[in-house]
Amino acid sequence: MDTSPAALDVLVVGAGVSGLATAFGLARRGLAVQVLDAAARPGGVIATVRRDGALYETGPNSALDTTPLIGELLTAAGIAAERENASEVSNTRFVVKRGAPVPLPMSPGAFLATPLFSPLAKARLALEPFLRRQPAGEEETIAHFVRRRLGREFLDYAIEPFVAGIYAGDPERLSVPAAFPKLHALEQKYGSLIVGAVLGARERRKRAETAKNTAKSFSFRGGMQTLTDALARDVGRVEVGARALALARGDDGAFAVTFEQGGANRVSRARAVVLAVPAHEAARLAYPLAPEATVALQAIEYPAVTVVASAYRREDVDHRLDGFGFLAPRVEGRAVLGTLFSSSMFGGRAPEGQVLLTNFVGGRRNPELAVADDETILAKVAAEHRTLLGARAPALWHAVTRWPRAIPQYELGHLARVAKVAEAEKAVPGLRFCANWRGGVSVGDCIANAHATADSLAAWLRAPVSA
Ligand SMILES: Cc1cc2nc3c(=O)[nH]c(=O)nc-3n(C[C@H](O)[C@H](O)[C@H](O)COP(=O)(O)OP(=O)(O)OC[C@H]3O[C@@H](n4cnc5c(N)ncnc54)[C@H](O)[C@@H]3O)c2cc1C
Repeated sequence: MDTSPAALDVLVVGAGVSGLATAFGLARRGLAVQVLDAAARPGGVIATVRRDGALYETGPNSALDTTPLIGELLTAAGIAAERENASEVSNTRFVVKRGAPVPLPMSPGAFLATPLFSPLAKARLALEPFLRRQPAGEEETIAHFVRRRLGREFLDYAIEPFVAGIYAGDPERLSVPAAFPKLHALEQKYGSLIVGAVLGARERRKRAETAKNTAKSFSFRGGMQTLTDALARDVGRVEVGARALALARGDDGAFAVTFEQGGANRVSRARAVVLAVPAHEAARLAYPLAPEATVALQAIEYPAVTVVASAYRREDVDHRLDGFGFLAPRVEGRAVLGTLFSSSMFGGRAPEGQVLLTNFVGGRRNPELAVADDETILAKVAAEHRTLLGARAPALWHAVTRWPRAIPQYELGHLARVAKVAEAEKAVPGLRFCANWRGGVSVGDCIANAHATADSLAAWLRAPVSA
């Protein structure tokens, strides 16, 4: 391998969607890029598996089309035609109440009629536009925010399960400005979520953006891995089985990453480096160059989540599975955080006459269950299928995937931690951090952040002296 300082413009450590989309953007801007990943294949938590005629995801099942940058990326990577939007049926989402999945209301009429919220909780919403806003600068948990603005029932039966669905997180710990910056901005700007939702929709139309609650869910005919495979193919120089061990900076300002691959240690040098790895790994690698950022990064926690794919004969499940899936609120005391009706969302997920469900357990709510043995987890998941979906026979098969550190938690103090990282980027020109612990955990947010990182780094590389 050529290790001369001029060999590479940018070394990207981490080939999840954040690292790959950054590398893709840099390569498109004519820069020489290499990507290193410790795993045996690129993609990070995005991984699609085929089994017995079914196709299941071990990580994200879909992405939300919230920004035009996503469509641009898919076109540039040559996979726009592979994209598949979630079926119409999956516009319906269920929330478990008193042991049964209830559709989440999607219109004012359905809201008035839904049994999910009591008449008192619904009436309380009318007060929301008149409530005092939180003083700017005071960081608040999502639970406190929702109780204050919308009331306890909205926390229990709408926001808490939704937060579990996105972050596998605890609303009593997640920071509103860090985890839900748009919600926070609505209150700060308009003084009300309801007024802000109406006026904000107009502004988004002007910017051609789509709100997360109305954006289209999509995947690909061959599953989510189509995306990361295409990016890796296009970038070309993606080294797998290559664990970065140490990062250093020479007198000439170039970065050197020592990595282990195939039992041997090697070194790659580049003018800039992007750490697109989980926070604890970024902390370790950045320590010699940015010790203060390290302390901040180490404080970002990742609860474990275990994903169970379950295939059933269609005739063995009573529920029509006519939706996206269900979320189970904490107050309902269920074993699963939620279950996706994967074969109702996209074609080709299960063979004819079968259905595929994807179940999530653990997270902040139930960390012990995420690390229990397979038998315990499978028994609990099967029991939920019997009770909530009317499964009358055992699953044809289950597949268990464990993510010991699944999703970064944007908890109180997160913005201050990320600010420390931004200071390190200023202090060490050419060092960048781009991963899901910053700027949003969704695939769409990772793509948007990667785009911004590639843009700013390319600009810096063209004029490094002024940085
Ligand atoms: C179970 C699950 C379900 C999800 N569902 C959805 C969903 O439906 N929709 C959605 O939008 N989002 C979802 N998400 C979130 C989203 O998938 C992730 O936030 C996103 O894919 C993370 O991408 P990333 O590149 O930032 O990190 P990762 O995918 O974690 O990639 C980091 C990479 O760094 C590598 N690495 C680590 N250390 C080193 C090292 N020392 N040297 C070299 N390489 C290293 C790892 O091998 C890995 O490939 C889900 C996440 C999980 C875990």
